[in-house]
Amino acid sequence: MKYLTEFRNGELARKLSAEIQQTVTRPWKIMEVCGGQTHSIIRNGIDQLLPKELEMVHGPGCPVCVTPLEMIDRALAIASLHNVIFCSFGDMLRVPGSSRDLFRVKGEGGDVRIVYSPLDAVQIARQNPGKEVVFFGVGFETTAPANAMAAHFAKQQGIRNFSVLVSHVLVPPAIAAIMQSPSNQVQAFLAAGHVCSVMGYWQYPELAEKYHVPIVVTGFEPLDLLDGIRRAVRQLEAGQAQVENAYERVVTREGNQAAQKLLAEVFEETDRAWRGMGVIPRSGWRLREAYLDYDAEHKFRVTGIHTQESPLCRSGDVLRGAIKPTQCAAFGKECTPRHPLGATMVSSEGACAAYYNYGRFISAEELTNA
Ligand code: SF4
Repeated sequence: MKYLTEFRNGELARKLSAEIQQTVTRPWKIMEVCGGQTHSIIRNGIDQLLPKELEMVHGPGCPVCVTPLEMIDRALAIASLHNVIFCSFGDMLRVPGSSRDLFRVKGEGGDVRIVYSPLDAVQIARQNPGKEVVFFGVGFETTAPANAMAAHFAKQQGIRNFSVLVSHVLVPPAIAAIMQSPSNQVQAFLAAGHVCSVMGYWQYPELAEKYHVPIVVTGFEPLDLLDGIRRAVRQLEAGQAQVENAYERVVTREGNQAAQKLLAEVFEETDRAWRGMGVIPRSGWRLREAYLDYDAEHKFRVTGIHTQESPLCRSGDVLRGAIKPTQCAAFGKECTPRHPLGATMVSSEGACAAYYNYGRFISAEELTNA
């Protein structure tokens, strides 16, 4: 298949769905790691094409959603400082912190700007030498190379009024943490294709073997997802636990080596807190010592942050795959995309937003009795 429409071909989708129906003989739970995959599954009704024994569980792969509250509060504190221009992708502006969001800071007079690339923020720093310009660098291995490039470029050009508030997280340690959880029910993973396009999938065979779990690198189109699910189900039914690449048109085993080289130069592994999942050892990146001058946390040393989650929000349970968004009592009532209580309703990749935007108003009772 060469063209986008071919990856949305209804007849092929029905064939794949029929094959999955014929293969499944007992209940299985498969987690799609990435929020982009969640949206595609819900938007295209793929979950409704699957046999009732097969449950898709939504994973933690939404960069906005997993950014911990204390990091949002830190961003709010830095953005409120006099003399700071705070730059971010648009999604982050509406994520609630303990008491407000970045839009509120902007409304109160803070210089908060939406940019489309971290290099735009470097350019703003160059144009405003009397100001400190901070970029909010969140996300997985996919967005990290551009942030690494911005810090690298600023250092190379001697731009000293630029820094990055880094909150990068890594997928393989999250998969390990999910498998190690005593309450885990996930039996196979669809790995996030765009993360693997950068990092390859050479890290996954060790995980598949250690936790005896099938991992299928999967894309985002309807046929990509059905093919990924089909391959995962085949392995589950055969008692196998291997890594398969179902996204060969984009992903290689080794990944983008130039990007990996840049990442290794700028970042080093560190323990990171994930919203809903707690601290996962060596699950994130921070700037290396050589880039300390470009580390906003080091530069601004914001202290005295006391986080306060909404008591109604269960986004942590949603991110761990423990509940579906519709099982949160606030879903569609106190919490909507216009008035979100949690990051999973704010983000364009959030599972709660997917269920709301594509009209999945199935009650929890219906869901559990289904
Ligand atoms: S529906 Fe809203 S309140 Fe409930 S878990 Fe999702 S984001 Fe949180």
